[in-house]
Amino acid sequence: MRDKITAIAKKHDADVVTFTSASEFSSDDAIFKIFPEVKTVIALGFRVLRGLYRGVEEGTVYYQYTTMGVENLEETVMPFAMLRAASVLEDEDYIAIPQRRHQTIMNELDSTNPEVDYSDIKRGVPEAQMDFERTAEICGIGERGLSGSIINREYGPFIRYCFILTDAVIEPTPKEQYSLCDKCGECVKACPGKAISSGGKLDRWQCAVYYNGANGAKNPFMPPNAYSDFENRREIINGEVKADRETAESIMDSTYFYPPAKHSYRSSICGRACDRACYIHLEQKGVLTKKFRKPFRAGEDWQLDKTQFDI
Ligand code: SF4
Ligand code: SF4
Repeated sequence: MRDKITAIAKKHDADVVTFTSASEFSSDDAIFKIFPEVKTVIALGFRVLRGLYRGVEEGTVYYQYTTMGVENLEETVMPFAMLRAASVLEDEDYIAIPQRRHQTIMNELDSTNPEVDYSDIKRGVPEAQMDFERTAEICGIGERGLSGSIINREYGPFIRYCFILTDAVIEPTPKEQYSLCDKCGECVKACPGKAISSGGKLDRWQCAVYYNGANGAKNPFMPPNAYSDFENRREIINGEVKADRETAESIMDSTYFYPPAKHSYRSSICGRACDRACYIHLEQKGVLTKKFRKPFRAGEDWQLDKTQFDI
C-alpha cells in the first residue's frame, strides 16, 4: 500500500512522500485530537518551482509566485494529490483524514498569516490544528531553519506540504538526518522589514506588513506619495517601523498597490526574500541535491532609489 499511495501522490505532482508512525509524535499533539486512532502520518511535499520566484528576484513580474507558488498549490494541486492518495486508503477500508493548512483560521488571538488578508482571518477558533512546520520536520520533509521555514534536501526552502492521517499501519520511511541550516543569518538580513530576529523569532505582524510590500526600496508599485497620512512614513518605507497589530493593520490598509490573488491570498511583494536568501546560500554551498545549470542569483540584489519618496 505504501508504494501505491506514493505512486498516486507522485502522479498528481507530489515531489516528496513520507510515512511516519504516529508514535513519533508526543501524546498531546493535535494529530491525536483530530483523529485519536491515527497510526500513520503521510506527508506530501510539493516543490515551489524555482522559476516562480524569478520575477520577484529580478524585480519584474510579481503575480506568478503568489498565484502559482502559493494559491494554486494550496488550493488545487495539493488538495487533489491528497484526495487521490487518501482514496487509496479508503479503497482498502481504512480511515484517511486529509490535513491541508487552513489559511484563514487560527487558534491564536493575536497573530496573523502574512499570505492572506488579515481581515479574512478568524482568530481564537477552538479547533484542533496541526503545527505544520513541526509535523513536516517529524515526517522528514526537511529541517526547520533559523527563519522558521522547512528546508528540504532537494529544493531547500522552496517547498510546501500537507498531510494525511490514517489508522492504517504502514511501514515508516527511513528518516534522513538533516544539517542544512548553518545559522548563517542570510534569511534575517534579507527580510525587507526586519521581521526575523537574529535568534530566529518571526514577528508575524511585522512580516505581514513587509510581505505586502511596505518597503519602498523593494516595491516597484509603490507611488512616491505612499503613506502620506502617516507621520512615520519614512520609517515605514525604510523597513524600520515596529508594527504591533493595530499599526500593522493600518499600514496594510494603505499598502495595497498591487492586486491580490483569489481565495484571500495577498500578492507577495517581498517574494519571500528570507527563503530566496536561504536558497541562494545553500545553492552556493552546494548542499542541495537538485542542481541547475545556472545559479539562481546571477549578480547583486537590487534596490530602488528611496529618494523618489521625498515629498
Ligand atoms: S539563510 Fe542560513 S540561517 Fe537562515 S534558514 Fe537558511 S541556512 Fe539557516
Ligand atoms: S522576507 Fe518576507 S516572508 Fe520573509 S520574514 Fe520578511 S516579510 Fe516575512
